Order: sequence, then structure tokens, then C-alpha cells
Amino acid sequence: MGDDDAPRRLTKMDDWGGEVMRRLDDGWCAALDRDTMRCTIYERRPGLCRDYEMGDSDCLVERSLYAKNHPGSFLLIAAPVNS
Ligand code: SF4
Repeated sequence: MGDDDAPRRLTKMDDWGGEVMRRLDDGWCAALDRDTMRCTIYERRPGLCRDYEMGDSDCLVERSLYAKNHPGSFLLIAAPVNS
């Protein structure tokens, strides 16, 4: 996460010594507000999060992969407004 400014209480060191966002037991990011499904540190979110625009094709692919690997998990899939 290098120059990122995410609150340290929401980060941890991975097995390779890199700083990453902490995950809850069910795999969701610790910075996610589960009631609103919004980022609680949006202005301070890591650069990697900034690279993904919510609902774009990369985002949808990642969400689909997560859902496939975590059956039964709650997942919001962006859909066109008129669908
Ligand atoms: S954008 Fe999502 S993954 Fe990134 S810090 Fe916020 S809640 Fe976590």
C-alpha cells in the first residue's frame, strides 16, 4: 500500500511483509460499511481501490469471482437501472 493513507487499525501485514487492508472473517474488507455497502474511508482508500471504478467491467468480474468462490455470501451486483 506504499504511500497510501488508510487507517492502520484497518490494515495488516500480509505473509510477505506488505501492508494490506484487513479482512473480516467472511472475507469482506474491514473498511466496508455492511449496512450501506459503502467504503467508510473513501477519501483515504488505497490506490488499488482507486483503480477500480465501482460497477465497471473489472469490478463486476471481481465480484463474480468472489461470489463463485464464496457461495452463499451476500453480494451486490451492479445492474442497469432499467433492468
Ligand atoms: S474501497 Fe472497498 S476494498 Fe477499498 S478500502 Fe474501501 S471498502 Fe475496502
